[in-house]
Amino acid sequence: VPVRAHVIGNVAIDETISVSTMPEAGASILGREETFDLGGKGANQAVVMARTGLPTTLVAAVGADFRARTIRDQLAPEPVEATLITLADRSSDFSIIFTTPDGENAIVTTTDSAGSLSPAEAIAAIGAATAGDLMVLQGNLSETTTRSLLDEARHRGLVTAFNPSPLRPCFTGFWPLIDIAFLNRGEAQSLTGSSDMAATDRLLQSGVRHVVLTLGGEGAMLASRGTAIAAIPAVVTRAIDTTGAGDTFMAVALASAALRDVELDIRAIGHAASASALTVSRRGTRSAFPTSDELQAILAR
Ligand code: ATP
Repeated sequence: VPVRAHVIGNVAIDETISVSTMPEAGASILGREETFDLGGKGANQAVVMARTGLPTTLVAAVGADFRARTIRDQLAPEPVEATLITLADRSSDFSIIFTTPDGENAIVTTTDSAGSLSPAEAIAAIGAATAGDLMVLQGNLSETTTRSLLDEARHRGLVTAFNPSPLRPCFTGFWPLIDIAFLNRGEAQSLTGSSDMAATDRLLQSGVRHVVLTLGGEGAMLASRGTAIAAIPAVVTRAIDTTGAGDTFMAVALASAALRDVELDIRAIGHAASASALTVSRRGTRSAFPTSDELQAILAR
């Protein structure tokens, strides 16, 4: 039986508005709707993983509203197996993304649905997961649901991958339950109180097997227990919209290793850098992700 990835997280509608400069408190500024797209870190990671050819399940909560219909329509053509749990009294999650001409972005995400997914609902939805499968989590679920899923993963012999974004202080207690962590410099600093190399050391000491620190246009670092830290450069491109860069990176790195049946390695990080360079060079979220054909070509390198 091939490994399957179980991504449990959020799904959202992303509305990207381009602005000349980021709005300041109290200001009213003009903007232009750039894209209206499927997003949410859970959906992003699941869609990209599925496009690599790795069998992938997405478990996410939605409300009973117009956004949920759009979410279903947008997921339908993707190779991902989506289990959407409808929460009758909640609103589907959405993100408002501001982008500036220099490619910088600021994001506000609602978590009414994702934050309300109960441990029981989440665990029931991954009933088919078997030992050796991947469980992929981000920061949008409640603390209790996230912890319950991580406990369940340990119990069932799943490999856990975690991206502590959006950042919350409670994540510091999760590390002993996490096999693979992906985080950016700011997240590493605030969760460990240390920077870069020292931060990755702290996480390895807390029980994480592989730590991937992403550094935007500077690339990424891979620290694995018992081996020297490796720096992997970014692939040079013209950054237009960085939305989903981190999600593309994590999804492709995990899928590259899983499809080759190896532990996370430098080759996987290189594949991730190539794939996320494509994402940053295009506007939108789902519409900016590499296609299945592009991912096949990258993974063959
Ligand atoms: P986001 O929140 O924007 O999705 P993140 O903060 O989680 O991103 P980053 O470290 O910004 O993650 O980016 C992840 C990866 O994407 C980087 O390691 C790099 O490989 C690629 N990347 C990001 N920005 C650029 C860029 N300007 N040029 C080329 N590659 C980039």
